[in-house]
Amino acid sequence: LLQLRAQQQVASLAATNYSHNSIVSNNNLVDNIYSASMEGGISSNVQNAEERIESTVLYDGPHPELAARLEKEILETNPGVKWDDIAGLSEAKRILQEAMVLPLLMPEYFQGIRRPWRGVLMFGPPGTGKTLLAKAVATECGTTFLNISCSSLCGDWYGESERLTRCLFEIARTHAPTTIFIDEIDYLCSAKVSATEHEASRRVKAELLVQIDGLNNSNKMVTVLAATNFPESLDEALRRRLQKRIYIPLPDFKSRKELININLKSIKLAPGVNIDQVARRTEGYSGDDLTNVCRDASFNGMRQKISGKTTEEIKNISESEFLNIPVTMDDFLEALDKIKPTVSAGDIQRYEKLLSEFGSS
Ligand code: ADP
Repeated sequence: LLQLRAQQQVASLAATNYSHNSIVSNNNLVDNIYSASMEGGISSNVQNAEERIESTVLYDGPHPELAARLEKEILETNPGVKWDDIAGLSEAKRILQEAMVLPLLMPEYFQGIRRPWRGVLMFGPPGTGKTLLAKAVATECGTTFLNISCSSLCGDWYGESERLTRCLFEIARTHAPTTIFIDEIDYLCSAKVSATEHEASRRVKAELLVQIDGLNNSNKMVTVLAATNFPESLDEALRRRLQKRIYIPLPDFKSRKELININLKSIKLAPGVNIDQVARRTEGYSGDDLTNVCRDASFNGMRQKISGKTTEEIKNISESEFLNIPVTMDDFLEALDKIKPTVSAGDIQRYEKLLSEFGSS
């Protein structure tokens, strides 16, 4: 009965539509999460399918939720983001390419003094494409992509955080080459958390340092890609492990134009739409802010069309009629009136000062 339950669990996870693009083998991974969680992260003990089923059965006992939650939290299958989906940031793309993509293509070249960076930090204002870049690295490298945020690791998983951190790296090694994306890494050093969370984050940080150090002695290609909006919060120990540090700035004029074009790829535009003007008007907007402007503008025609109509009347309008409403310059101007930049000029000054302090290229 227990074996059957284990198989059902694996089958139901497979049925949640995971593709195999960035996950070497889901069933293996799921099994390893189960066994690693069960055994405090020692999945290398697991030798063959029969033993895996056995471990799954054991796991099925004391901590069924732990594995299910970890699995749900960290596996991002087929992130499907290409470099071209990301506007601008050519310098960041170049550095990431050198730090993370090339070592996978030329492992023998990246040896000794040229050994790959094990920890890379992206810092900058929120909504500027850090997560997108991490996903593009995984897509372009075809690596297994594990995506976790520090606040959930320390907060929601209180009591298990340290073990899960070990487990995370074990999973990463098992499925190398792997990109571990750790968002909100500053959380591990934040003073603004409760006493219990502080204790959890202290333990996770200590474990993380050990694990990143361990990567240097391993021939498995596992890279930690961390992101933060508060780089100044990171302590010296963490900074040292994240040797390569990349500033991800707000988009400049050219990048904003690119971003608008990416966002409006499949949208019908009215003849008078002036992308240059929208890009000029959005200085200081993050990529996320600008995406919101495009989204809002693209809805405006539909809003006008249904205004004052009953649901019955709306039902009688065909969808192609909506699809044929072009986005006008007025729609953009209206959206710009509503959506303001979320990053302040003071914040930008702070980032630029920090860039000279500990950025690298
Ligand atoms: P961050 O991780 O830096 O907070 P994200 O990568 O999550 O930001 O970006 C949030 C959203 O903003 C993305 O899903 C995307 O729609 C948009 N975005 C931000 N920067 C860019 C960019 N450079 N190119 C394309 N889209 C972007």
